Amino acid sequence: MRPLYDAHQHFQFDELAPHRSAIAESLRAIGLGRAVVNGSCEQDWPAVSALAVQYDWILPSYGLHPWDCGNRSGGWQSALRAQIEADPRAHVGEIGLDRWMIDGVKPGDPRLAGLRVAPLEEQRDVFTWQLALAAERNRAASIHCVQAFGPMLEALAETKRPLRGFLLHAYSGPAEMIGQFAELGAYFSFNASVLKLKNQTRLELWKNIPAGRLLVETDAPAAPLPKDRAAYHLPPGPNGEILNHPANLEVAYSSLAAIRRESVEELTKLVEDNFQRLFVNS
Ligand SMILES: [Zn+2]
Repeated sequence: MRPLYDAHQHFQFDELAPHRSAIAESLRAIGLGRAVVNGSCEQDWPAVSALAVQYDWILPSYGLHPWDCGNRSGGWQSALRAQIEADPRAHVGEIGLDRWMIDGVKPGDPRLAGLRVAPLEEQRDVFTWQLALAAERNRAASIHCVQAFGPMLEALAETKRPLRGFLLHAYSGPAEMIGQFAELGAYFSFNASVLKLKNQTRLELWKNIPAGRLLVETDAPAAPLPKDRAAYHLPPGPNGEILNHPANLEVAYSSLAAIRRESVEELTKLVEDNFQRLFVNS
């Protein structure tokens, strides 16, 4: 069996600290090849670098997430450039645009506690600067986009993009925009948390992703699967939140294969080629 690849997760998050060595064992058991571990704020970049030294399956990625954009320091650009230049394997992400945090979030959502919400124009400036850095160094950019697909398409079209391409992680945009994003160099990673949605459209669109641009991810410890679909479980996090176990990657593969009516073997081969092209080969 070929290895499995997780195009997007966050092994550095503190909630996983007590479970890391057990998780690494499970990842070995499911046959993980590599995982892209995304730093999302200046404070967690050093943790990502340290883990990438400890675990050879980690491909490190560094970026300022739109949720953390409002709390950045004055020196964030030089700090990010230094992270990217220090490691030729390092990519750029998680970066992006998020309109949900501006006008969709319910007041008091603990996920945004203590964060200053940056308006979309400010998020866009921070996003395009990071995208241009990825283009300059030809590193893959891993992109979060929630309820901002119009502005995202515009920002991507107007900015230099990495020649190797970029990832729209857990794509939740309209099916009609897939072709336009793909033309600009997008890859799309499937996240099994969509299995909980009653609306089938966000599942069905995965049939329309071009085969050469398809990837699989967990976003762990975020984006938990429906309880009855998860194969691996972790104790709840410090605020009682459900944590997604990174080894649920296996479930993401089998669910996506079922949606696309392909065998897991075919999908595994396809995803390996795509992952290598975007994140490994230079
Ligand atoms: Zn993420």
